[in-house]
Amino acid sequence: MQTENVQAYVVNRLLLDKAITSKAQSQGAQYFFSSPVIDIIPGKDSIQAETLCFGAREIFSARAVVLANGFKPKLPRKLGLGEIKNFLVGAQAEVEAENMYDPEVYFGQEIAPGAFAWLVPSHVGTAANKAYVGLLATSQARLYLQKFLNNLFDQGRITSREVEIGQKAIPVGTLTRSYGDRVLVIGDAAGQVKPTTGGGIYFGHLGAKIAAEVLDEALSSDNLTAAQLSRYQKQWKAKMGKELSRGYRARQAYIKLSDRQIEGIFSILGSSGMAEALLKSGDFSFDWHSRLILAGLKRNSTYPLLKIKQLVSREATL
Ligand SMILES: Cc1cc2nc3c(=O)[nH]c(=O)nc-3n(C[C@H](O)[C@H](O)[C@H](O)COP(=O)(O)OP(=O)(O)OC[C@H]3O[C@@H](n4cnc5c(N)ncnc54)[C@H](O)[C@@H]3O)c2cc1C
Repeated sequence: MQTENVQAYVVNRLLLDKAITSKAQSQGAQYFFSSPVIDIIPGKDSIQAETLCFGAREIFSARAVVLANGFKPKLPRKLGLGEIKNFLVGAQAEVEAENMYDPEVYFGQEIAPGAFAWLVPSHVGTAANKAYVGLLATSQARLYLQKFLNNLFDQGRITSREVEIGQKAIPVGTLTRSYGDRVLVIGDAAGQVKPTTGGGIYFGHLGAKIAAEVLDEALSSDNLTAAQLSRYQKQWKAKMGKELSRGYRARQAYIKLSDRQIEGIFSILGSSGMAEALLKSGDFSFDWHSRLILAGLKRNSTYPLLKIKQLVSREATL
C-alpha cells in the first residue's frame, strides 16, 4: 500500500534515545547508568527505590515513581499491579546490503511464526548499503532471524550473515493496573504497544504524555494516592484502550492462520482493488490499525477473510 504522504520514518534508536536523554538533562533530569532498580517500596509520605549503583546498594526516596522499565514483569507484579503474560520476541541486526531502496516485509509462519520479518534500509530514498534485518516471532526469534539472514545471504541480498543479533521480548496485552499509590507505569511496562506490529514508540509516548499531565496535577495538589493517579489509566484507556484490545484480537486471530490463508489475504487485497479503496477511505493510518482491519473485514467476506472475521469475533467473546 502506498500513500502520497510520508507515513513513517526510520529512526536511529540510539540517537533518538540520546536526544531525549539530553533534552531531559537540560531540564534537570539526572541519570544513574548501570544502576538497576531492584525494589520499589511505597510508603505513606514517600516512595523508595532500592538500586544497585555500580554494585553498591543505594536507596532513593521520592514523592512518586514512574516505572518505564520495558517488558520486565517483576516490579509491577511485586507492586500488585498484575502481570502481562502474553508476549512476542523481537530480534534485529544491522547488515551490509547492496542497493536497497524500499523497506520489505515478509510474512509466513515458517519465516516469522505469528508475526513478520523486515528488511529496512537505514536511509530510505537514496540507495543505502546498510539495512536493519529483523523479525518478531512467538518464540525463538534469534533462531528464525539467523535462518532468514542465511536466506538473504544465499540470495546475495546481504554481504555477511555473521552479525550481532539483539533480542527482546515485546508485551502483547496490557497491565491490569498501571497506577498505584505514588506509582505510574508507562510504555512497554504497561503494555502500551500496537499488538498488530509490536511497535511501542508511538503508543508509549501517548501514554507518557498523559502520565506527565496526571502526575503534574497530582504533585501540585500533593495528592499521590492510587485513587487520584487512577485518572491516568482512565485517560490512556479512553485514548487507546479500544485500539489495543481490537489489535490484540486481530493478532490472536493472525497467529492461527496458515501460510496459504495469509497468501489468500494478500491476493484479495491485490486483486480486488481493495487496497486502493481502503487507502482512499480515510480508514488508513500507520499507527491506528483497527479501523482499517474492521473496514477490510466489512468490505469482503470471502475466505480467508471470513475465517479472520470468525476468529476475531471468537476472541471477543473469550
Ligand atoms: C527487534 C525490535 C524491533 C522493534 N521495532 C519497533 C519499531 O519499528 N517501531 C516501534 O514503535 N517499536 C519497535 N519496537 C518496540 C520498541 O522497541 C518498544 O516498544 C520501546 O522500546 C518501548 O520503550 P520503553 O521505554 O517502554 O521500554 P524500553 O525501550 O525497553 O526501555 C526500558 C529501559 O528500562 C531499563 N530498565 C529495565 N529494568 C530496569 C531496572 N530494574 N532498573 C533500571 N532500569 C531498568 C532498560 O535497561 C531500558 O533502558 C521494536 C522492538 C524490537 C525488540
